[in-house]
Amino acid sequence: MKVAVFSTESYDRHFLDLSNLSAGNNHQFVYYENRLEPKSGSLAKGSQAICAFVNDDLGAETLKILAEQGIKLITLRCTGFNNVDLAEASKLGIKVLRVSSYSPYSVAEHAVGLILMLNRKLYRAYNRVRDDNFSLAGLLGFDLHGKICGVIGTGKIGLCFAKIMSGFGCNVLGYDTQPNSKFTELANATYVELEELLSRSDIISLHCPLLPQTYHLINKDTIALMKPGVMLINTSRGALVDTLATIEGIKSHRIGYLGIDVYEEEEELFFRDWTGKIIQDDIFQLLQSFHNVVITAHQAFFTENALNDITKTTIENLTDFEKGNPLINEVSVK
Ligand code: NAD
Repeated sequence: MKVAVFSTESYDRHFLDLSNLSAGNNHQFVYYENRLEPKSGSLAKGSQAICAFVNDDLGAETLKILAEQGIKLITLRCTGFNNVDLAEASKLGIKVLRVSSYSPYSVAEHAVGLILMLNRKLYRAYNRVRDDNFSLAGLLGFDLHGKICGVIGTGKIGLCFAKIMSGFGCNVLGYDTQPNSKFTELANATYVELEELLSRSDIISLHCPLLPQTYHLINKDTIALMKPGVMLINTSRGALVDTLATIEGIKSHRIGYLGIDVYEEEEELFFRDWTGKIIQDDIFQLLQSFHNVVITAHQAFFTENALNDITKTTIENLTDFEKGNPLINEVSVK
């Protein structure tokens, strides 16, 4: 099948080509670096399917343009599908398939990486030692052992994260609208209501999807419930967090550490090199300026293992659609 692949980088092309080759080279990829949005939708002309990523715009306007080009299938190279207007896709007869699971360790381990980076101030220590400054002043951390770690969303990634934190000797509090018995089997792990998790945790990590119900889950009111000096980690989706409320939380010292891999206005920024250019997003620049904030640019998924899983499933999704097999990774309006 001919597939227009949007938002591609060299690594996407490398892993997709490898997975395609090992599955018999049945699909023909046309690679575009462009982000998919209404103005780039016509690039899909001549393809039967498109392949998109987290920050591609699959709103109603783009979907209509894709349908006009004859697109019948959207394959997402990610688990989240918050960027797709599923009702519109269904109306237009376009199927939407995703990668429903891939190495959950990639994201869970990155979240732990952010915690250690903040807690032990590794980002400051690294630069300091390179400057031949071996003073420890300002680098004081705390033991994770015995701390209370709250996990919001205990699905594949949240469970994996909870296991690691339980291994550190943390007491793990979980909140999920669909509790999972595997979570309660972990040492020192219990489910509590959201308010209790927010008010008792020393560290809070977000692992739930972005849905209308979870938009700005972390806001002025929920931040007010948190322990002073709390560490907040978001490797899930930017819009789970109200950035302005978080900035206020940092300024009032309620939030003592912030580690994020996602940002609610990341579409225009992430996955691009802005070196030497002027970033116009004042809120992002303000966030960057705090000494207790660490930002990575949506790289939590970025391991060899995860990219192998993602591209292998993407190829399987294309082949299932082409052969009329059951579409096990289909997402549709509930
Ligand atoms: P999953 O579906 O296995 O788990 C999500 C969990 O969240 C489920 O247990 C679900 O019941 C729970 N949930 C749903 N609504 C909730 C709510 N209102 N409150 C609390 N919990 C709720 O998904 P996953 O594979 O663990 O992925 C989780 C999220 O991680 C994805 O939705 C995606 O946004 C994000 N993600 C980020 C990256 C990255 O590179 N930064 C990569 C992959 C996934």
